[in-house]
Amino acid sequence: MYRTHTCGELRISQTGNQVTLAGWVQTVRKFGAITFVDLRDRYGITQLLFGEELNKLLEENPLGREYVLQVTGVVTERSNKNPQLPTGDIEITVKEFSILNKSVTPPFTIQDDTDGGEDLRMKYRYLDLRRNAVKKNLELRYAVNRSARNYLHEKGFMDIETPFLIKSTPEGARDFVVPSRMNPGEFYALPQSPQTFKQLLMVSGYDRYYQVVRCFRDEDLRADRQPEFTQIDCEMCFVEQEDILEMFEGLIRQIFKEVKGIDYTAAIERMSWEDAMWQYGNDKPDIRFGMKIANLKFPGYVFPEKSAPLVSWHSGFKVFDDAETVVAVAVPGCSEYSRKQTDELTDWVKRPQIGMLGLAFIKCLPDGSFKSSFDKFFPEDKLKVIADAANAKAGDLVLILAGPEERTRKAISELRLEMGKRLGLRKADEFKLLWVLDFPLFEYDAEENRWVARHHPFTSPRPDDIQTMIGQSPVIGNADKYLEHPYARIKANAYDMVLNGNEIGGGSIRIYQRNLQEKMFAALGMSPEEALRKFGFLLGAFEYGAPPHGGIAFGFDRLCAILGGSESIRDFIAFPKNNSGRDVMLDAPSAIDAKQLEELGLVIGDL
Ligand code: ASP
Repeated sequence: MYRTHTCGELRISQTGNQVTLAGWVQTVRKFGAITFVDLRDRYGITQLLFGEELNKLLEENPLGREYVLQVTGVVTERSNKNPQLPTGDIEITVKEFSILNKSVTPPFTIQDDTDGGEDLRMKYRYLDLRRNAVKKNLELRYAVNRSARNYLHEKGFMDIETPFLIKSTPEGARDFVVPSRMNPGEFYALPQSPQTFKQLLMVSGYDRYYQVVRCFRDEDLRADRQPEFTQIDCEMCFVEQEDILEMFEGLIRQIFKEVKGIDYTAAIERMSWEDAMWQYGNDKPDIRFGMKIANLKFPGYVFPEKSAPLVSWHSGFKVFDDAETVVAVAVPGCSEYSRKQTDELTDWVKRPQIGMLGLAFIKCLPDGSFKSSFDKFFPEDKLKVIADAANAKAGDLVLILAGPEERTRKAISELRLEMGKRLGLRKADEFKLLWVLDFPLFEYDAEENRWVARHHPFTSPRPDDIQTMIGQSPVIGNADKYLEHPYARIKANAYDMVLNGNEIGGGSIRIYQRNLQEKMFAALGMSPEEALRKFGFLLGAFEYGAPPHGGIAFGFDRLCAILGGSESIRDFIAFPKNNSGRDVMLDAPSAIDAKQLEELGLVIGDL
């Protein structure tokens, strides 16, 4: 038997017992004739004491960091207890030891605050995984996985695997493709998600499906994405939007409870996409803090339901007068910002990622007066109108951006988040869930002058909008006025779950009638032949009694990262890839040899 106990298990009540432990050498400390060793495994650390006699043996067989060691000895009360360690009251007085395997010196210390940089740790990920900090993340991931599975199992969902070698599923990214040796010149695509399969399972009558499943998307790896990632993918039939929202609120509440010990009993807020854009400039707003946007000036075609701007814009201040959009946020308690601080913020919004030309501001001074960066053009009573629109109080700083609608709205959203972060309003241990509903069904692709599906082509329009979709031609006459096309106002029967400003899940009620699905493909610019070639299997299935259905998928890696208080999903994946999609440990992707290429019928041209 290699061990009787783990290294995290023994307590003072076991004093006097003979035990055998096996693990990795964390540290070796010599004190004259005796030696202390910290032995580590997945469960913890136990101190070993090698007395004088064994010390001689140790000199002949010196221990090094990360050696695999087995010891037999007696649990003894420690004279110098360590309250930080669960096993800190005891040590093992070693009687026998055996070095099961040696280790070369590891390239970084296996400790919480290691001296290894990210690249090095990724190259030796198997060593990084020994670190407590990384282990805790994987444990949390497993806890979320278990909690989700238990919930879904209790609710009657069946875990059904779907294939990885498939034909393209459009989810808005490029496919990874796999050449087929047996079918030279032909390729499989790896699934961007099991979308069409889970819909087919509904046609087959498996009315509650789930899968914790890998998805593959060949995207540019902007901020913290992975080419392969995991979803908790679910689908149900005979449901409406409300049924899905309720079912998956239950799922997330259970995860909070079981994984974080948090009773999330508060109602989960719901917000239309339009309101999210209007109030936060963002379709996944962080609602842990206020600082809602004041829309001082905006184009009516984007927000036709909103009333006219509050402020008269013939101010003589060209920056505002000429802008399509002028938006503001009130930053609490910052009216005393110095020139240096406002200059720094101005530089911040001028960075290429934000892309604004400048920043205007109003200081709402504690004595009730106002001071702005554009005093010349605005008398104090007008400044007050803006400050009031932004809900600013005395002591606040109102930041104002002006420019083209899309860019300016995105910029104010980023600025709001940045200021929220700087003021400590985005706390990692505070959680706020939100449903965002009523997304536009279509987006306009200017390059191709056509509509594209905002979610995916299987998403149903809202019931009120189905007639518009069937009755109207998708052809966009005047590209400049695409927003006036009736399709621009069609809403999707779709929903995103947002947690602390991150989209953690998204789904929709699906189209289940062949004619509507054909109409959808046509709206996206597909000819009937192309639609048949690509999705004939689905169109066909819809003719054999397809039930009404809908579903959702949660981004499992992201959910774990947020619950773990981290910004990086990589920390929660056992073997992640780096920013260029490389596995630096395996050195993948890599070239394959000529024989493999030949078998696959592939020729690599000049790149
Ligand atoms: N397949 C979708 C996605 O990956 C989720 C869904 O609609 O259920 O985003």
